[in-house]
Amino acid sequence: MWHPTTIMRARMASQRVAILLLTAGVCAPACTRVPRTAADLVVTHARIWTGDAARPEASALAAIGERIVAVGAENEIGPWRGDATRVVDAGGRRVVPGFDDAHVHFVDGGRQLDNVDLKDADSPEELARRIAARAKATAAGEWILGGDWDDQRWTPARLPTRELIDASTPSTPVFVNRYDGHMSLANSVALRLAGVTRNTADPPGGTVVRDEHGEPTGILKDAAMSYVDRVIPPLSYEGRLHAIKRALAHAASLGVTSVQHMNPDANDIGVYADLANRGELTARIYAAPMETGWQDQAKVGIRRSFGSAWLRVGALKGYADGSLGSTTAYFFQPYDDAPATRGLLSDEMQPLDAMRTRLVEADRAGLQLCIHAIGDAGISQILDFSADIIRASGERDRRMRIEHAQHIAPADFDRFAALKVIASVQPYHAIDDGRWAERRIGPERIKTTYAFRTLLDKGVRLALGTDWFVAPLDPMQTIYAAATRATLDGRNPGGWVPEQKITVAEALTAYTAGSAYAEFQDQEKGTLTRGKLADLVILSDDIFGIAPEKIKDVKVVTTIVGGKVVFQR
Ligand SMILES: [Zn+2]
Repeated sequence: MWHPTTIMRARMASQRVAILLLTAGVCAPACTRVPRTAADLVVTHARIWTGDAARPEASALAAIGERIVAVGAENEIGPWRGDATRVVDAGGRRVVPGFDDAHVHFVDGGRQLDNVDLKDADSPEELARRIAARAKATAAGEWILGGDWDDQRWTPARLPTRELIDASTPSTPVFVNRYDGHMSLANSVALRLAGVTRNTADPPGGTVVRDEHGEPTGILKDAAMSYVDRVIPPLSYEGRLHAIKRALAHAASLGVTSVQHMNPDANDIGVYADLANRGELTARIYAAPMETGWQDQAKVGIRRSFGSAWLRVGALKGYADGSLGSTTAYFFQPYDDAPATRGLLSDEMQPLDAMRTRLVEADRAGLQLCIHAIGDAGISQILDFSADIIRASGERDRRMRIEHAQHIAPADFDRFAALKVIASVQPYHAIDDGRWAERRIGPERIKTTYAFRTLLDKGVRLALGTDWFVAPLDPMQTIYAAATRATLDGRNPGGWVPEQKITVAEALTAYTAGSAYAEFQDQEKGTLTRGKLADLVILSDDIFGIAPEKIKDVKVVTTIVGGKVVFQR
């Protein structure tokens, strides 16, 4: 899947550091022995939050090659400086480990940076106006994609229809998604290319929304989106490379030094491999292709977290259900504002036995499972599968993950902990969905919605991320969301379901060491300690010293990955 030299190079680099650690003398934190080798990088005048309970704060660190060789006081690090050492003066600023986003759609995110932007279109008319403007600037026949529209911003909230955009797009296919990625709006050109008519059946796990005459409105939900997706021309190699480079630059500017890419295309991994071989990756990547293709990885002997420090595979992404915004998240009880439905199990879950068999076999092959589950019944079903897997194959360190884990039935928290399932969560969704979630699922169910406090108190491990492109990639927005739970509409300044707030330190820990654990890389990164990869970020302000409300305005000043500066403001 990639050139073996990548792995060789990584192995040789780590051997070199191991030798250097030996020659420098491994000693207690208060080590004063003079090193025999100069560091490649020294960071000074810093307020370092190490994430290491044994020494939580330090003021300087040194790295050789990719790895940290010393963390401590200025006088401990001083001797590591040589003539060729690059010295980064942090100017007294806060330094934290690089952020590891446990759940991104990296190529879609990179493409989104170039796509039509509908996220803050405040009315259907504004959505129509922006698409008309984009159509004018788009060659006939070329697709308009992306969008991230949000019908919940509109008064009243209602789904858009193709009539809104048809007149301005007579020869331009349009397929723009809701920001959660669980439904999209097609114009009539796109529906025609896809062959979707009033006679098209709803696929399992999907819905073609129809008007009172039975005609498709243009809205396709979940599995029904594939009708149009399959007629969109595939991204070229250059297009993919461009999107990934955009995404990497964006990540570097935000202090994101590792990303875990959920359901990548095989071609995405190919581009990552090329960039890794050329030494051009500026974020470390763990790729989790769809579980339906688990045998592709298993048959060549790939196990969880297989590869180099820069690029690894061996994880699998699956879907239990849809999303809250699209009323397709799968609940035990109907939606309060859509009593005819309690959501949908995904097409992968139909029938359940087939999904169970695949997950058991994939786990037995040593692959890691990361399953999207949002509604309480969807989550419960995946916890059942987790128990089935343990029953079938025994206890081991498998680090199964539930992605999102949004609405947990009260009885399932203890099970979550007992089964050692990791909750891979995206706090920004809480301040976004928090605007309208209670209308949708009522006052009782919101008590255990985005329940980060309860999860931590129950002993469940958290990994943090954003789900970018669904939410902003910026870690400061995520930490702000976790610590304040202040919804985007400004209506809950004291926090929406405030009992579920977590502290800044807890959020940061989950975003660094927690996410590293979730990708079997906790021995490699996630804290700033000797021997770990030198992935770190200098922040404009001290997130521990300012009011949590101000964290969303904090900027990244410098991003360092593998001992190299990859971004400087
Ligand atoms: Zn996702």
